[in-house]
Amino acid sequence: MPNRAAQKSRIALVKCAAYKSAEVAAALEKAFALLGGIGVFITPGSKVLVKPNLLMAVPASSGIVTHPEVVRAVIRQLKKINCRVLLGDGPSAMNLGKERVERVYEATGMRLLAEQEGVELVRFEKHRMRKGVPLSALLDECDALVNVPKFKTHTLMFLSGAVKNLYGLVSGPYKTELHRRYFRPEQFAEVLADIYGSVKPALTVIDGIVAMEGDGPGTGGRLRSQGVLLAGRDCVALDSALAFMAGVKPEGVLSNRAAARKGLGNCDLSAIEVLGEPLEAVCDSAFRPPSTSITTAIPGFLLAPLQRLMRFFKPKIDRLLCVRCGECVKICPVKAVRFIDGYPRVDEGKCISCFCCHETCPARAIKITRSWLARLIRL
Ligand code: SF4
Ligand code: SF4
Repeated sequence: MPNRAAQKSRIALVKCAAYKSAEVAAALEKAFALLGGIGVFITPGSKVLVKPNLLMAVPASSGIVTHPEVVRAVIRQLKKINCRVLLGDGPSAMNLGKERVERVYEATGMRLLAEQEGVELVRFEKHRMRKGVPLSALLDECDALVNVPKFKTHTLMFLSGAVKNLYGLVSGPYKTELHRRYFRPEQFAEVLADIYGSVKPALTVIDGIVAMEGDGPGTGGRLRSQGVLLAGRDCVALDSALAFMAGVKPEGVLSNRAAARKGLGNCDLSAIEVLGEPLEAVCDSAFRPPSTSITTAIPGFLLAPLQRLMRFFKPKIDRLLCVRCGECVKICPVKAVRFIDGYPRVDEGKCISCFCCHETCPARAIKITRSWLARLIRL
């Protein structure tokens, strides 16, 4: 495999203030023009899988999922070059059956969008093993993958952008298994990097018009208007640009660090050519990274051994906010959550701090707290 990091990566960064159809379309047109046209990435007439981030069954206004207007603009660009488009994602709810996925498509506006644009809405039902991970078989049926993530923070990786979005291609039940097996952040980052290396999207377009700060990527985060769209091929370079905007060191994003080490992309900003707006012009010094990102202050060689010894953060359920839906019980990979006296409770002895429960809680009822050891070393 050629070392992608050996060459300078080119990405486009354009401003877009609102989710108005014409405005998003014009911004994306500009981004592709800067990069030499969509034909640089996608062969005209090909069959393309478009994969947005559809984490859960919430409307686009929640800021948790990729906005349909961004997906629409991508689809229209692909249709202009006569591509056949398939649209879909494998949300966390995939574990819970087809009906749940249909609810996600309905709530996020993807069903309506697919009907309006005349494209096929697909479920990731069949999978094929790639590098030991079962990934959607649609990747084999399509000529190209177009990745359309949302700019969000992530408590485990610090950022959910281009690389993290590809985790949705993993077979539903196996997602839980991977979380159980590779629960340490640096281990999980390796898994994400391997998935990226295995699927290689032909093109990525990031919805950063309204981003998420704080303890994302679910209801725990807060919305922040960033007013940007990014496009390019190198997912690591794109995520590095997001990290810079969010005030986190690009190599501090664990999936970036792992992917760059494997030669899959550039996380060195001096090796990334940003076309359009200069990165400094959209850097947001007030952007709140996730509370867990304070571990980036610990040197890398110390962090991994320390994390083997202790958990720095743990989930805490706020009964006042809990709506007793049971999602946290269903998603927990080690069955550490169960209902006691009518409310979910976390068994700290079993919990592996994967934060799947925090990510899927629909009621913002699961907080991230510091363990006593983390407080002791003043994290
Ligand atoms: S997912 Fe959230 S709201 Fe639902 S039971 Fe668990 S803590 Fe309560
Ligand atoms: S309780 Fe939450 S953080 Fe702990 S293992 Fe279960 S899902 Fe992961």
